[in-house]
Amino acid sequence: MSVEGHGRMREVAVQAIDAARLEPLIGAARMEQYLAEAERARELFAGRAVVSVNSTAAGGGVAELLQSLLAYARGAGVDARWLVIDGDPAFFAITKRIHNWIYGTPGDGGPLGETERAHYEAVAARNAQELRALVRPGDVVLLHDPQPAGLAPALRALGVPVVWRCHIGCDVANEWTERAWAFLRRYVEPVDGIVVSHAGFAPPWADPARVHVIPPSIDPFSAKNQPLEPAQVRDALVYVGVLAGEADGPHVGFTRRDGSPGRINRHADVLQTGPPPPPDAPLVAQVSRWDRLKDMPGVMEAFAHHVDPSLGAHLLLAGPVVTGVADDPEGGAVLRDCIDRWRRLPHHARSRVHLACMPMADPDEQAAIVNALQRHASVVVQKSLAEGFGLTVSEAMWKERPVVGSAVGGIVDQIRDGEDGLLLPDPHDLAACGAAIERLLRDPLEAARLARNGHVRVRDEFLGDRHLERYASLFAQVVAARTGGGDAATAPR
Ligand code: UDP
Repeated sequence: MSVEGHGRMREVAVQAIDAARLEPLIGAARMEQYLAEAERARELFAGRAVVSVNSTAAGGGVAELLQSLLAYARGAGVDARWLVIDGDPAFFAITKRIHNWIYGTPGDGGPLGETERAHYEAVAARNAQELRALVRPGDVVLLHDPQPAGLAPALRALGVPVVWRCHIGCDVANEWTERAWAFLRRYVEPVDGIVVSHAGFAPPWADPARVHVIPPSIDPFSAKNQPLEPAQVRDALVYVGVLAGEADGPHVGFTRRDGSPGRINRHADVLQTGPPPPPDAPLVAQVSRWDRLKDMPGVMEAFAHHVDPSLGAHLLLAGPVVTGVADDPEGGAVLRDCIDRWRRLPHHARSRVHLACMPMADPDEQAAIVNALQRHASVVVQKSLAEGFGLTVSEAMWKERPVVGSAVGGIVDQIRDGEDGLLLPDPHDLAACGAAIERLLRDPLEAARLARNGHVRVRDEFLGDRHLERYASLFAQVVAARTGGGDAATAPR
């Protein structure tokens, strides 16, 4: 297989954001602690860059995370950069296979043999060639997920410390996880640090002394999470086509990550029988990539067959347009499967289930639409079959929405069952999923209690200051281990 034309890395511009804006949310004492850590990080990284490398600038949790986190790091005076690797469809089919295997599932059932390894390494080599011109030995490189893991040996050969962050994982090892780890081992085993989102996700061969558990975070000020008035929420959703009615005002505005104003100008691509849900009908929503492990069809069937129709609720399954996420080749097939199953639902159920594909051309606009959706939902569901962390869970909890989530991966680090939301012990149990949704719809006071607790939990554990402090301490260890505690920073760039 040729990799001609592929391998050009792209740098994503990152705005500096001052974390001081978090202070009203986290309080003065926590802010002071953050500022002290930021000071130490500035000293450590004087003359160095921290370069994050992943495989997409938009769509999915990693891109969502990097946008805010790197902006706060830059705001703290650290030269945090973001590069996106390039690959061809065959490369992304291979990395999606690895991704599915790390989740303990067979994915497309294809092989990961020497042919696939050769192609994976050829794409990695081309990207590494570009990366060589962009990093220097004093820098630290943070590779995200399996796609750029193949760049680690070339970076290490340059003397650059490498940390590999794996955002995905599986609670129970099986033949697929073993095969995925066997594939990645030669690239990742020697790196300076491995970061996982959830305890127990580390590869079995990883040196425990080099494994760090760092959960992700959300940014309360991003277009995805910033406050919206109820009227804005309704107008936005009417405009994009997922709620019935007439929008009152002009297109809903939001603040972009660079601080400039934006407006919702695009419509969603919505599949439904009859009109969109009325604004006053309870809405159950799952927002996910069209990925088998998110089990959108399972949510649909749990809702259609196990939630009492007399409650008048509607279900919205929302994901990106299927051409919108470059590194996710399975989206089209999963969406088609959802549509097929939707067509087979009895008419009365089908008219209460709506499938929406979000416009992805403008990531901030897309985020603002998801924000409105999550805020409008009476219940947010994340019925994943496996999950690294599940940012959608924290996003909904932050918005004081009651969440029903599977008890898998990082979701259990966010929701404490019956305290901050409801957990589904068996994510395949459709009746239990329907019952949990129904319980929240029938008992708004209990739903509100869980939702309030959820907000506090996210404030305490999953905002950016906590996340950056954990990274700063990891990088300090990595740099100290490389330099024997001394300072190896190179001359100013
Ligand atoms: N997301 C989005 N639009 C979509 C689907 C998902 O903006 O149509 C966002 C979602 O709000 C969250 C991220 O993508 O911020 C998904 O992260 P998560 O950790 O839940 O799952 P991942 O996609 O990384 O497996």
